[in-house]
This record gives sequence, C-alpha cells and structure tokens, in this order.
Amino acid sequence: MWLQVSFICLSFLTLFYHSQAQDQASLSLSNDPTGRCHYTFTVASPEESSCSGGSTKPEIDGILSRMTLLEALVSRLMAGGDRNAGAEGRGYGEENLLEAHSQVTREKKQLQQDKERLSRQVHELQSTLAELSQEAESLRQRPCQQNHTSGGPQQENGPDSDAFGNDAYQEMKAEVTEFAASHLIPEGNHSLTGCGELLSVGDPVLHRKADSITGKYGVWLQDPEPQGLYYTNTTVWRIDVVGKDVRQLFVYEDMDQFSRGFPMKVLVLPEPLESTGATLYQGSLYYQRRRSRTLIRYDLASESLASQRDLPNAGFHGQHPYSWGGYTDIDLAVDEQGLWAIYSTSKAKGAIVISQLDPKSLEVKKSWETNIRKNTVANAFMLCGRLYTVASYTAPNTTINYMFDTATGVGQATSVPFKNKYGYNSMVDYNHAQRKLYTWDNFHMVTYDVRQGRADHRSS
Ligand code: CA
Repeated sequence: MWLQVSFICLSFLTLFYHSQAQDQASLSLSNDPTGRCHYTFTVASPEESSCSGGSTKPEIDGILSRMTLLEALVSRLMAGGDRNAGAEGRGYGEENLLEAHSQVTREKKQLQQDKERLSRQVHELQSTLAELSQEAESLRQRPCQQNHTSGGPQQENGPDSDAFGNDAYQEMKAEVTEFAASHLIPEGNHSLTGCGELLSVGDPVLHRKADSITGKYGVWLQDPEPQGLYYTNTTVWRIDVVGKDVRQLFVYEDMDQFSRGFPMKVLVLPEPLESTGATLYQGSLYYQRRRSRTLIRYDLASESLASQRDLPNAGFHGQHPYSWGGYTDIDLAVDEQGLWAIYSTSKAKGAIVISQLDPKSLEVKKSWETNIRKNTVANAFMLCGRLYTVASYTAPNTTINYMFDTATGVGQATSVPFKNKYGYNSMVDYNHAQRKLYTWDNFHMVTYDVRQGRADHRSS
C-alpha cells in the first residue's frame, strides 16, 4: 500500500514538475477513528507544500536534485555547444579574412610595382621626347645646310663666318674638280697592313637594327688592338646614346651574337657619357663625360675608371657639334697612328681642331687646326693620320668631302662617294684592324669596307 501511495505521489509530483507548474500539489493521508485510511489530494498552499507521508520526500528531493543537476548539465552542454560552434565559425571566418587580406596585399604590391614601372617608362619617354624635340628644333634652325655640304664646306653667317671667305670656298670647289677618283692609284702591291689615302668606300652592310627608341643613335665598335685575353678583336661593344644618363655599355661575344641581339655582359660606366664620339683602343673605352670637356679612359678588363683629363679649350654640349647636332662636340677616333680627338675651340672659331692624345694619360701630344668648320659636316674619322669628313648625314648619296693630313698640315677637298642608306647617320668611325667604317645610321648598325691607296695629286 505505501509503495502504491508513494508511486502515485511521485507520479503526480513528477507530472507537476514536468508541467513546470509554479505551485506544488500534495497528498494527505489520515486514519479515521475506525482505522480506515483517508486520501486527500489538495493543491499545495504555502503552509503545506508536500505530503507528510514520511519516507517519499527524500526520494523525490533526490530525483529533483538529479533532474536539476541534469538540467544544469544540459544547459551547460548546450551553451558550450553554442560557444564551440561560435568559436569554429569565428575560426573559419578569420581564416577567410586572413586569406583575403593576404591576396589584397599581394595585389596591392603588384599594382605598386606596375605603377613604378610605368612611371619609369613615362620618365624615359619624356626624356626621349625632350631630346628629339631639341633635335627637331636644331634642325629647324638649320633648314638648308645639307643642300650645300656635299660639294665642299659651306659659308655660314654668324660671328665665325670670317673663318671662311668666299675665296676659300671657291678654291676648295676647284680642288674637288681636280682631285678625281681616276687619279688615285689603288693599293695594288702594297701590303694590306700599310697605310694609304682613302680611295673608296663600299656599300653599307647591315649588322643590327635597334629595337627601341633609345637606339635612334648611338655608338658601336670593335677594339682594333685589344689587350688581355678576355676581350678580343671579335668582341662587339655598343652604347645607345639617346637619354640623359647614358652609362650602359653592352658587350657581345662576336658579330653573330651582336646581330642576334644577345649581349654577354652589360657594364655600367662610372660617369655618364655624352654623344656618339666614344671609341675603343687597347682595352679601354674612351669617351667624353656628359656636359663637360673631360675625357675619360675606362679600363674594360678591370671595369674601372683608369684616367680622366680635360681636353683644353674644347667646346662641349652644343658649342661646336656636327651638323646633325646631338652634342657631338668632341669626337674621339683611333687609327693606325693612335688616339685622336676631333673638336673645336673658340680660338679656332668653329673650325675643326685635331689633337693626338696619349692613350694612357689623355694628354694632348700635338694639335692641328684645319680650315673646315665642324658644324658644316656630318661626321669625321681618322685614317692613317688623316682626317676625313662626311658631307651629309641624311643624303642617300653624299661624299667624303674633305681630308686633312697631319703629316703635312695641309687640308684639301675630296669627293669620295658615301651612302647614308637609312637617312640619319649619327656616328662614323674607322677600325684599322677590320679596315672598315662603323656607322650608326637611324637605328641601323652598319659597316662599310674601305679601299686605300696612294693618291696621285699631279694634275692631268
Ligand atoms: Ca666619328
């Protein structure tokens, strides 16, 4: 009976618990005078909250405690699950954010690099444009010069115009007439290594075309007398001259690699170079430092500045350029007799001055003043101790129009045909080992064979 009662009480109380009623129920038991049991079920009141039936209460309390504990445990588990889920979510989200940030950083870095590269390109193009504009302006100021130079030096107005009177001009014209090619005696029995006068220049042979605007003009050469073992007379050297800070010297193993555009090395010069007058001789590059009359000898083997010296009184940076401009004030040249500088001074009033230089110290050994104005000719080179000038840098068929012999100190007009195949010849230099002229004609790197011989100056 007690067990049944206890079960009923428990069932009811459990039922009440699960319904989560705030008030509690109780079952009262009592005996009447006849000894019979009375069951009384009442809603709990504050004064009577449970059945007073003795031993069931601790059990119910225990169950309630355990359920409370279970509830608390479930609550904690649920809360913990939520927290874990939240943490996992955050972890995944953070990972995504980090990856996105990393990607954005990479893209930003790439964009900055692109921006810097483009800025450099813009800067280079602006420099090139400025140079070309300057050149165009220079050409506009000398509109008709080329029409007059092919037959001999021209008379120009200006402060130096008294250097060449009309008489001198006429005299030269007359000499051109007398000095016909048929009067030249070909080299014939002379040794190929011998020295003679220039008889003729062959057709241009193309070796390489520059593939960027910086190759509009430049200088390219081979050393006629290389020193040491590393560089030989087959090594080819090239400098693109367009730009304000010209320092790169490209080195090619041989003419084949040069023609294919594959340099084996790029040297960086210690001082920037000006114009196309550089030359190579006995293992050194000789050039004029930018905006100065300073000559520099750069030793190719040690890749260092070997000596530097001012060329006394030499005009520079546009004072006495060749007719094409390009700051070609100081033109260095090499021939069978050594190293030369071709330039002008204020004392010479724009006439070409030739100085033979000591190749080690760059000191002037001896100088000659010619009677041809530097800005009336396109370029010049030395051959067997004689200066030769090219009349035009643009005319497809022009001439080598003047020769000055340092052995006699006498200059005279000549008329040896010369072709500017590509229309803008910015460099002409002679290589006595190859017996060729090297030129840079409007992006094109070209050679010409030359023939030498003894000239018969007797009039016919
Ligand atoms: Ca030259």
